Amino acid sequence: MHKDVSEILFSEQDLANRVREIGANITADYAEAAGETGIVVVSILRGGAVFACDLIRQIDLPLEVDFMAVSSYGNETKSSGVVRILKDLSTDIQGRHVIIAEDIIDSGLTLRYLMENLLSRKPASLTVAALLRKNTAVQADIDCRYVGFECPDEFIVGYGLDYAEHYRNLPYIGVLKPEIYQ
Ligand code: 5GP
Ligand code: MG
Ligand code: MG
Repeated sequence: MHKDVSEILFSEQDLANRVREIGANITADYAEAAGETGIVVVSILRGGAVFACDLIRQIDLPLEVDFMAVSSYGNETKSSGVVRILKDLSTDIQGRHVIIAEDIIDSGLTLRYLMENLLSRKPASLTVAALLRKNTAVQADIDCRYVGFECPDEFIVGYGLDYAEHYRNLPYIGVLKPEIYQ
């Protein structure tokens, strides 16, 4: 285990198993909607990229993957609620069935902004697959169809999730020792 991590919440195996299940659920739920055109999986950079790249390989349907980069945290550990689009989609999602693949829902402010933004482009449907959801008291009301795991309200890193751009490459998800960011 990395020296800056106090506890492993989800092992590499836990993550692989759960991502496989979510992929199977999406495959079943979208079999009809996908048709020949296929669905669009929107990966939210950078944290959601590891999850999205594993997830698409567990979805047995025609699909496109596209990337969006947003920023809400900087190097802080709490959401500011102010979301900036740093990179927009290349795909026109009008009339398409879209799934946002996101790493983690904390306050939900980032996703709420993203959903409003993508809905204004008139997709045929829009749902969310989030690998993690924090069991915090305050959360924007986000209808998240696929959730990997509920997780405690601690600052976590690994499997795409960073602190100041570090730890994304850890193959597991763990709790970052508070002394690292305090
Ligand atoms: P929200 O807007 O839902 O509060 O937070 C959105 C984003 O903040 C997430 O997509 C993620 O990038 C980041 N975030 C939230 N909680 C954590 C956490 O515990 N660890 C890390 N590394 N990032 C987090
Ligand atoms: Mg994110
Ligand atoms: Mg981050």
